[in-house]
Amino acid sequence: LGRLYGPLSAMSNVQVDVMTALVSFERVLEVLDLEPTVAEKPGAADLRAAVADRGPSVELDRVTFRYPGAQEVSLASLESVATLRADPVSDTLHDVSFVVPAGAMVALVGPSGAGKTTVSQLVSRMYDPTQGAVRIAGEDLREVTAASLRATVGVVSQEAHLFHDTIAANLRFARADATDDQLEQALRQARIWDLVTALPDGLDTVVGDRGYRLSGGERQRLAIARLLLKAPDVVVLDEATAHLDSESEAAVQTALDQALAGRTSLVIAHRLSTVRAADAIVVLEDGRVVEHGTHPELLAAGGLYAELYATQFADAPRAP
Ligand code: ATP
Repeated sequence: LGRLYGPLSAMSNVQVDVMTALVSFERVLEVLDLEPTVAEKPGAADLRAAVADRGPSVELDRVTFRYPGAQEVSLASLESVATLRADPVSDTLHDVSFVVPAGAMVALVGPSGAGKTTVSQLVSRMYDPTQGAVRIAGEDLREVTAASLRATVGVVSQEAHLFHDTIAANLRFARADATDDQLEQALRQARIWDLVTALPDGLDTVVGDRGYRLSGGERQRLAIARLLLKAPDVVVLDEATAHLDSESEAAVQTALDQALAGRTSLVIAHRLSTVRAADAIVVLEDGRVVEHGTHPELLAAGGLYAELYATQFADAPRAP
């Protein structure tokens, strides 16, 4: 067993390294807004044409999803390890259906591990569903070009990842041809222009690893400026849970309101003000939609949402 175990544990270290590398790679892709795990179909359609015709609605239609499991790593040399580890992996999402009408905001709530982030990743086509379909403007995301999908969907995650480069360069990842005036306008709307102009090198200040240390709230506002420059029709937003100081929090909120106005949005909501403002709330538990309605409807129903309301949302007075 010792002879077997040595190589096995060496291999599992390799796997950890590969996973770490993949995670960093995903972060780079997230900044670039690319999709890592799916391929573009030959002859794929331009999603922007469908959005122009029918408006940017988002639909999950009976979506079941299972993450590609470790046992599916197809290296022949790992086969024996794979067999040892092939305990059944359960689906992360089961038969999830809901629609975000064009221009509406839907809030996604649920306990930790319910599948909220997974849903948001399917809408930006980081992954394809195992069964069912994700559609924007009625087009199955598997049938559209990667470039048109990227132009249509903007993602703001909790952690804004910045390259070790200037603020201007970080912003131009969203729109390469943006003028300095356009950068300024986006930074003003994102409520971070004053900070940028106060820096010795202004827009040319190097941020990211080993660069100027921006706070969490500042990084988020830069990510919002990036989103405003890109001006996507659909926004997928993971609201921050990290504690921001109240000034930063108010600035981020104002910036987000700007970013979401007039767009179709799917928000992983952690704030009471968001769920109240949402056109509909989808409550996920264990990968299933267990409730769906407005804030007053779901409070009156007295189910999981009412329970979460009592414990999870804490940015405003408690009156419904
Ligand atoms: P939280 O509120 O804690 O962020 P969540 O509702 O966003 O949770 P997800 O992150 O979507 O939940 O996770 C749903 C389930 O999928 C969890 O059981 C999680 O462990 C699993 N999961 C998430 N990402 C992966 C992955 N890359 N590979 C395998 N399983 C994953």
